[in-house]
Amino acid sequence: METKTESSYRDTISIVDDKGGRKWVYPKKPKGKLYNARTIVSIILLAILFGVPFLRSDGHPVMLFDILNRKIILFGTFFTPSDYYLFGLIMISAFVLLFLVTAVFGRVFCGWVCPQTIFLEMVFRKIEYFIEGDYTRQMELNKAPWDNVKIFKKFSKYLIFFILSFIIANTFLAYIIGTDKLFKIMTDPMSEHLSGFISIMVFTGLFYFVFAWFREQACILVCPYGRLQSVLLNKNSIVIAYDFIRGEPRGKLSKDNEKKTGDCIDCKKCVYVCPTGIDIRNGTQLECVNCTACIDACDSIMDSINKPRGLIRFDSIEGIETKTKLKFTARVAGYIAVLLVLITITTLMFTSRKEIDVSILRTQGMLYQKIEGDRVSNLYNIKISNKTFNDLPVSFKLNNIPGEIKVIGENVNLKAAGIYEGSLMVIIPEESIKTVNTPITIDVYSGDNLITKEETSFLGPVN
Ligand code: SF4
Ligand code: SF4
Repeated sequence: METKTESSYRDTISIVDDKGGRKWVYPKKPKGKLYNARTIVSIILLAILFGVPFLRSDGHPVMLFDILNRKIILFGTFFTPSDYYLFGLIMISAFVLLFLVTAVFGRVFCGWVCPQTIFLEMVFRKIEYFIEGDYTRQMELNKAPWDNVKIFKKFSKYLIFFILSFIIANTFLAYIIGTDKLFKIMTDPMSEHLSGFISIMVFTGLFYFVFAWFREQACILVCPYGRLQSVLLNKNSIVIAYDFIRGEPRGKLSKDNEKKTGDCIDCKKCVYVCPTGIDIRNGTQLECVNCTACIDACDSIMDSINKPRGLIRFDSIEGIETKTKLKFTARVAGYIAVLLVLITITTLMFTSRKEIDVSILRTQGMLYQKIEGDRVSNLYNIKISNKTFNDLPVSFKLNNIPGEIKVIGENVNLKAAGIYEGSLMVIIPEESIKTVNTPITIDVYSGDNLITKEETSFLGPVN
């Protein structure tokens, strides 16, 4: 958006100084209706984040992302590698939903849902305000000599940050390996779970680095979603916007020029509270994470000068320029259509998904073998994915032709949520073989339950 202000701010990043060094952001402690609402939302989301790893369905975690052991559980449903296309579809649908929400409501995800913002603004920053005080106190403390007070404040702050990072790292790991394994790592001797212990410490260090030092740089410099804003947003997207028509020309409140200036009294409160160090009056910027702190700050100023609230508000640039409401654009219609198609495909695939996947393929490069008793054998590779949480004994029967099936090795005993890979031999009397390539059907049973019928072929001599 080009406003009536200079646009030189677009040539620089708010958190980088003229020499290319980092400008540390000291945001003023926010307060107001939206900040309170965000606090409530973040408490709910944090409770969900920390609580979900402990939730069980039939004794199993409802969410698990154990990628190393190919074990993914989403909302109590177990996904094996053969289901990863479904998992991929769910992820694509989630991305399309995110793009749709962004096209309509801007970067609302960043301000209200993103774990980075929630942890930084609602957890770590609150602790910082509690220990070191508001932004001016923090600046003073950083400039002050290292006396006992400063040592105590800094030490206690970073100790709490480290403990919190440790808790977050453990929670993160609980989603990957499950709480049972995590408790084992914590309670068993360290030497028995060295890799688990190293993982916890690496993640603790990573979270500590991000929340104690890296901070808003994650949103501005690293996050790919943040960098996509310029292509996702348009003039009709609802963003945190400064009403430049109402606000400009800005100027200090005084009796002399009261009539000549707009509603912005240039108090810069909206700039002081911004955790990414930008001036929203310059227009929509990539750095804005929609935290709403500037809305609260400006509303409190408008209250104090008896002007209507909403000089900074949720609105589209089009809405501000033309004073019209949100428009339903072709792009939004396109996103909705794609999203509906993806949801339909995912639902259909999900509902037609088998709980046990069986694949029986003749072993490559092997021909038939004649064995005693005028019989012919073929070797097959079998792979069975058990997507249930029960152990299943599995057996095989030839369906459409006389003969027998011998499993190589031990009987197939499929572990709960496990994958079995092995071999079996199909043996057919030579007299029953009429062609070089005989279609056969193998019935796969668990106990007396027929799980599936697998079609394959049998090589043999022509009589
Ligand atoms: S807080 Fe409101 S009045 Fe103050 S500078 Fe920002 S936009 Fe202008
Ligand atoms: S401009 Fe406003 S909403 Fe955007 S990050 Fe800064 S304070 Fe938050």
